[in-house]
Amino acid sequence: MLLQNNMQSQAPNHNPQNKMAKTLRLLLGDQLNSAHSWFEKNDDSVIYCLFEMRQETDYATHHIQKIIAFFLAMRAFAAQLRNNGHQVEYLTLDHPDNRHTLPENLRYFIDKFQIARFEYLLPDEFRLDEQLSRFCEQLSIPAEAFDTEHFLAGRYALRDFFGKKNYLMESFYRAMRRKYHILMDGDQPVTGQWNYDQDNRQKLSKNHLPPNPLLFERDVSDIFQLLEKQKVKTIGRVDVKNFGWPTTRAEGLQLLDFFCEKLLPHFGDFQDAMTPHHWALYHSRLSFVINVKLLSPLEVVRRSVEEWQRRKDEISFAQIEGFVRQIIGWREYMRGIYWAKMPAFATMNFFEHHRPLPSWFWTGKTKMNCLRHAISQSLDHAYAHHIQRLMVTGNFAMLAGIHPDEVDAWYLGIYIDAIEWVEITNTRGMSQFADGGITGTKPYCSSAAYINKMSHYCEGCFYKKDQRTGVRACPFNSLFWHFHDRHREKLERNPRIGMVYRNWDKMSGEVRAEVLAQAEGYLGCMEDL
Ligand code: FAD
Ligand code: SF4
Repeated sequence: MLLQNNMQSQAPNHNPQNKMAKTLRLLLGDQLNSAHSWFEKNDDSVIYCLFEMRQETDYATHHIQKIIAFFLAMRAFAAQLRNNGHQVEYLTLDHPDNRHTLPENLRYFIDKFQIARFEYLLPDEFRLDEQLSRFCEQLSIPAEAFDTEHFLAGRYALRDFFGKKNYLMESFYRAMRRKYHILMDGDQPVTGQWNYDQDNRQKLSKNHLPPNPLLFERDVSDIFQLLEKQKVKTIGRVDVKNFGWPTTRAEGLQLLDFFCEKLLPHFGDFQDAMTPHHWALYHSRLSFVINVKLLSPLEVVRRSVEEWQRRKDEISFAQIEGFVRQIIGWREYMRGIYWAKMPAFATMNFFEHHRPLPSWFWTGKTKMNCLRHAISQSLDHAYAHHIQRLMVTGNFAMLAGIHPDEVDAWYLGIYIDAIEWVEITNTRGMSQFADGGITGTKPYCSSAAYINKMSHYCEGCFYKKDQRTGVRACPFNSLFWHFHDRHREKLERNPRIGMVYRNWDKMSGEVRAEVLAQAEGYLGCMEDL
């Protein structure tokens, strides 16, 4: 499907009569969609190219497992294309011809193969979209951009759906359910109810251990050594002999089967639960394979709905609804916000927060059990599930007034699935409320009460979950009130927050002053928390 013919160069094709005139097609590392119509037939005049580049390894400090996963996935995809008879040019990070930026590598191949036409798939990231648009404007051969044929809604579907109205995930999600006829009976939900969020908020009981995560034990020493040799700066840890993430479509499908068979029956129940004893619980860990397009969101949803249909006696409707909501609801909604609001979104700082991120975000060395666990797990696995990201690390960063740029940089680096369109909308938007309420209707934050309700972190923590003041008082408690007090003007009129201010006002002036002083004390020594 042709999307942008405005990029067609005005300059004539240098070689219009030449039947073997070559077309160069670019595939980015997150564009590994084997079902794309580009690959329907083999064409000798088409050369596909993929590049491992310093431009991509260095634009953020990535987790070592994230770079390894991308390179493995790209290499396997290139090999598969070659096996299927396509021509592929692949530049590894240490290839002598690698110029390490997109324009320079593309120019190199355009000259080398006397390319007559350049084609690419629309990038998901604004920076790459801009870079490729600029590159095409300067080209003297025709260029076209094509859809990735991955998402369920177009780039600007959300903007067009809401127009000038406030964005609301729930309405968009219902429209998506109707459009794709998922869990529907005519134009109504199959059970008569759209939302099962209320049922999906259980804490894990102490003796309940979810199944062990399915891991793909691969030796990745060669890529690890390559990154070391090329001095690529990374964070986090990796077991080079047992790399666990799926990086091919076959592995992605295996993980999807594992999810459907073993995890879906409790996905919704424990979606918000946290425990130091298990790093993935009933979450699918499919985000990486979906984000790089090895799996399509629609096939993931259809496969899981089929599983629910076959095992309705074991899998309650709340489980499947919760899962479908994440993929056709939240994921598409976040992408829609990204394209509706970029580039302005990337600099929003509604609360004018300016503090630096404490250095223990990079080491996990803090006395706060919840943060120590969520951060250490992220460094070990390049993964934390949604509630750890939102209600532990994100919650702390917002309450402590950390600059959203610093928070974004951390999230963009540390997670295996972090690609800006889905990272920034979740981080700056949903978790930091730096967008002032575009993504969500109120800031997601809590004191220790919520963390204790949903996790086993507080037991055995150095800090006391029930104390607001005192040497061992849980920092979340005083910071929660400090946050609301310092942003009263911006938040008080929000009908979903009114109760918080009513409770705050019920406390005596003396108590309020003590709580604020406690928080100030913590903010003054964040490195020591
Ligand atoms: P599951 O819990 O099994 O959910 C299934 C799928 O639903 C996920 O694989 C994902 O594709 C989709 N999904 C669920 N929630 C969201 C959401 N809020 N937005 C978009 N898709 C969602 N997700 C990323 O893919 N990349 C990121 O960089 C990223 N950064 C985040 C940062 C913060 C601060 C927060 C709060 C959330 C972030 N998320 C991000 C969303 C979500 O946390 C991850 O998609 C999820 O944890 C991935 O693990 P999973 O595959 O096991 O998800
Ligand atoms: Fe986290 Fe506070 Fe609970 Fe400790 S007491 S685990 S810091 S919420």
